[in-house]
Amino acid sequence: MTDGNELRNLGEFGLIDRIAQRLPAGAGVALGIGDDAAAFAPAPGQLNLITTDMLVEGIHFDLSYSDPLSLGKKALSVNLSDIAAMGGKPRHYLLSLAIPPAITLDFLDNLISGMLSRAEQFGVHLIGGDTCSSSGPLVLNLTVLGEQSPDMLVRRSGARPGDQICVTGTVGDSALGLRLLRQGGRKGDAIARHLDPLPRVREGLALAEAAIPSSMIDLSDGLLADLGHILDLSAVGARIYSEELPLSDTFRKHFPLVTEEALSLALAGGEDYELLFTAPPEKIPQIFPLLEKMGTPVSVIGTITEENTRAVIGSDGKEISLDRKGYDHFSGRDKS
Ligand code: ADP
Ligand code: MG
Repeated sequence: MTDGNELRNLGEFGLIDRIAQRLPAGAGVALGIGDDAAAFAPAPGQLNLITTDMLVEGIHFDLSYSDPLSLGKKALSVNLSDIAAMGGKPRHYLLSLAIPPAITLDFLDNLISGMLSRAEQFGVHLIGGDTCSSSGPLVLNLTVLGEQSPDMLVRRSGARPGDQICVTGTVGDSALGLRLLRQGGRKGDAIARHLDPLPRVREGLALAEAAIPSSMIDLSDGLLADLGHILDLSAVGARIYSEELPLSDTFRKHFPLVTEEALSLALAGGEDYELLFTAPPEKIPQIFPLLEKMGTPVSVIGTITEENTRAVIGSDGKEISLDRKGYDHFSGRDKS
């Protein structure tokens, strides 16, 4: 075991060196860690994509149940998920750390291990960052750079009435996992989904390259809230069929009946990091073989309508009233 002292002795530059030494060689970067700025050659004809996300201890993660390895993976995954939602190819990333005295060198080594293994999995390279101490929480800020050609970029604003609404994987697992963690649970599929979500990078790219989605977003805030962003920016409405929501076996074990509580986790629970996208009906048949090849399930859960309809339809064919918290963004605009 190491303690905070070991990290203090190492110092900022020692830590940066320690990280730099672990990077794979020949990462295809003109200039990586070590100079005042990194440099890389943009691919000809491609737009650069750039996204950043901050993870703050006590707000986005809790060190009483987040292990450093998973935390490192998740910090990169949530950023990769934003590139995936654009249909982009992730290439490079930057890592900024604000480290409180209680954090040990072991913890940081494991955090970096998690991040580097996720980076290798998706072919992204660490090219820089910033390191400082924190008198408060541990803060991780990652910036991921990616690319895509301008004609293949998928925005939130392209949904049209008549388009079908699709989602990869299953929804509600991460929110269920978080609930179980808070109740003292430490193992199981739902908890794993919360602590270590896998971004749908290959799926987003394949969909974009097949020119299938008219709009796309990743599920970070909850299905209805994130769909709400597509609806706002596309100036359209939506009908979602609760029976079509993809629920995992683990989720169904916890909720053999789809109660109001289960529905609320599936519709408003965040951090699933699945892709939610819309596509015109004639393109729907292409989607299943494309994603099944990758072993990724996909479900059609609803339809885009004219503006001002935002409804979730229950198994009885009737509209479910959405006056609960977490549904605000989806249901709010109806009334205006
Ligand atoms: P400056 O004072 O010019 O900002 P730094 O000492 O902060 O330089 O950084 C030196 C080098 O180390 C830079 O290439 C920077 O991108 C890199 N770096 C700093 N912190 C990290 C980190 N946490 N992860 C990866 N690279 C880092
Ligand atoms: Mg610096």
